[in-house]
Amino acid sequence: MRAVDLIVKKRQGGALGQEEISFLIQGYVRGEIPDYQMASLAMAVFFKGMSFEETGFLTRAMIDSGQTMDLSAVPGPLVDKHSTGGVGDKVSLILAPLAAACGCVVPMMSGRALGHTGGTLDKLESIPGYRTDLSEERFADILRSCGFAMTGQSERIVPADRMLYALRDVTGTVESVPLITASIMSKKFAEGAQALVFDVKCGSGAFMKSLDQARELAVSLVRTGGSLGRRVRAVISDMEQPLGRTAGNFLEVREVVETLRGAGPPDLVELTLRLTAHMLVLGGLAPDVDEGERQCRRRLEDGSAWERFLANVEAQGGDPRSVEEPEGVPRAGTAVDLPAPESGFVERVDAYRIGLAAGLLGASRARKEDPVRPEAGIELLKVQGEAVEKGEALCRLHLGKGGNLEEARALTREAYRLADRRQEPSKRVMEELGSDDLGEN
Ligand code: URA
Repeated sequence: MRAVDLIVKKRQGGALGQEEISFLIQGYVRGEIPDYQMASLAMAVFFKGMSFEETGFLTRAMIDSGQTMDLSAVPGPLVDKHSTGGVGDKVSLILAPLAAACGCVVPMMSGRALGHTGGTLDKLESIPGYRTDLSEERFADILRSCGFAMTGQSERIVPADRMLYALRDVTGTVESVPLITASIMSKKFAEGAQALVFDVKCGSGAFMKSLDQARELAVSLVRTGGSLGRRVRAVISDMEQPLGRTAGNFLEVREVVETLRGAGPPDLVELTLRLTAHMLVLGGLAPDVDEGERQCRRRLEDGSAWERFLANVEAQGGDPRSVEEPEGVPRAGTAVDLPAPESGFVERVDAYRIGLAAGLLGASRARKEDPVRPEAGIELLKVQGEAVEKGEALCRLHLGKGGNLEEARALTREAYRLADRRQEPSKRVMEELGSDDLGEN
């Protein structure tokens, strides 16, 4: 078999078989198939797609590229959530301790920034000292002691996703239903969770721009998860506007801290409670989502989710003072405000442009080798529905080392649309879907 022939086959719209897909994935992980051929294959998949069967083969080949974690000794219920990627999406950092405080055990394997979207690992690593490269033993220990643990793909666990994810990030091949499904499902299968909630983002700041595309991805995740024996639920959520008021790694950690201390923005709280409530239902800890939400709200308000978060930061090597007093963490770089050109109400803040601008300031990578800057990003001082006076700051840009302030400023200016009349902020949760809705159990 030759990689080039398989690339041509996919480019012509052919279906790849199980052996062909595992040849490609194994060859890539062993270093026998170079990045340029894999990038070319990813582009062919991007344009020609994959059948449900091929997506299953790809997911399986990625799982088999490494080992799966054995968490059988950790008492459950082991439940996790994964987002398909958004702007300002810091939900995982709040949801994991919250679900743990409600009785779930959350083995969370996340990714880094991808395209214009942020990554949970980059956010966590912006906490001074925080490590996400845990050994499996340490991961299991932290799961037992904190109820949740956060890690990334490694050379042992789904190495194929680690490599392909980084490659897709810089080759314009992210927005593909089969590639996203295999990337997410391989990680989630390997980490050992028994049940999974997916937050499928929809809108300008998501990879799926329309509701139809988001539904297609939700169905693909639910079906693939079901075929791997997992209990799965998908929530389609609105990503036209950034989530909360920050986009950028440590800025988002600050907002997470505020939320865990009871002062989070309503949209972030609404979505986090809903997703966590679904986890409780899948884990058998709540009879229905409404009761799940009530339990979550209690654990957020009584400080137990915050306590879990602090315990995890300490266990994963982070400096607890940096999250107890995030204002005290020194910020490098320059902060520049963007003034409103006229008085009015914020009608829209385009999530895609804000994501790109945060990346240009240093919050994500342009090349695989690039570092991300913890301090870089954007604070949205005004969001949809809020009034603003001419000259008042709409947002604050935090420039990281090596960032491009001028381009970021221009994009941010374009992201804001003002109107004369107030627009009601949109609801985050759009639709929900489980295997029972597909006639599959
Ligand atoms: N999240 C992932 O883990 N992988 C993708 O491809 C997109 C979002």
